[in-house]
Amino acid sequence: VFQLSVPLNFLGSVYRELRQSLLDMETLFNLQKVNVSIKEKPNAPPLQLTKGGEIRFENVTFGYREDSPILKNLSFTIPAGKKVAIVGPSGCGKSTLLRLLFRSYDVQSGRILIDDQDIRDVQLESLRRAIGVVPQDTPLFNDTVEHNIRYGNLDAPHSQVIAAAKRAHIHEVIEGFADGYQTKVGERGLMISGGEKQRLAVSRVLLKDPPLLFFDEATSALDTHTEQALMANINSILREKARTSVFVAHRLRTIYDADLIIVLKEGRVVEQGSHRELMERAGLYAELWMAQEMLMQEDGPLKETKEEG
Ligand code: ATP
Repeated sequence: VFQLSVPLNFLGSVYRELRQSLLDMETLFNLQKVNVSIKEKPNAPPLQLTKGGEIRFENVTFGYREDSPILKNLSFTIPAGKKVAIVGPSGCGKSTLLRLLFRSYDVQSGRILIDDQDIRDVQLESLRRAIGVVPQDTPLFNDTVEHNIRYGNLDAPHSQVIAAAKRAHIHEVIEGFADGYQTKVGERGLMISGGEKQRLAVSRVLLKDPPLLFFDEATSALDTHTEQALMANINSILREKARTSVFVAHRLRTIYDADLIIVLKEGRVVEQGSHRELMERAGLYAELWMAQEMLMQEDGPLKETKEEG
């Protein structure tokens, strides 16, 4: 689970908002807690996206405890402007990998480079400003729908908030709420479904419009139809703007069109390539794909079973 990290980059802005008592003290406390061990080097320069956002893992090893590594000597490159998927069995370290990129934790050995800069050497704020995350479980603030989306970009006008919500397929749902965009959500407001929450999180990140986007099971609570429609929108935005994106997903149908699929198992890269290449390889990815296709067929009528050519 990629918890709590998304609002970290908004922490500065959150303080501003606090004066308007928009946020739980408890939430704020939790946000601060995650962050303490990560230190910025003195006079660290801001991250410069000179190559358009290429991400490189070089022999990265990391564990939450020193003696039990979760990621083991990982090396791979995520090309700038491409859509990359990280797949693999539950618990293999996919969310952990995203947390390292966001510098919620630092690597134990090896390094992570963005456009040739070690992320430990750059100004933390600039790193997090460059990244947008849709985490597995999105924290919602006890605030209006509008503000919850606007955490992505506090200066955005109402029209942009609406545009982001439309692209995330949530605008009509919001309009159906009693007070529309002014409806209070969160623990003390309207309880909304997991799928609605996910779409709010997607709106937030689309409004932020960062150069690097990470999606951690971002559409897992949606029905297949809504998921496909939302993914089509996300894909076209990413392509149009040539954003570097990383998707963690269990449902392989949401990522089979990725430029590169990296398959992890027990903290190591076991395969990488396009869907087609991995299917031809007949390894772990092909196995996972077939298993999911079979399940879908058992579950009911399947519209398009043909594999991508
Ligand atoms: P899933 O697909 O089920 O979300 P994942 O591949 O994303 O799994 P991670 O969430 O990265 O896996 O977790 C990798 C391992 O690290 C798991 O064994 C998990 O229990 C452990 N882990 C995750 N977060 C923490 C943490 N904050 N402290 C200690 N261990 C953790």
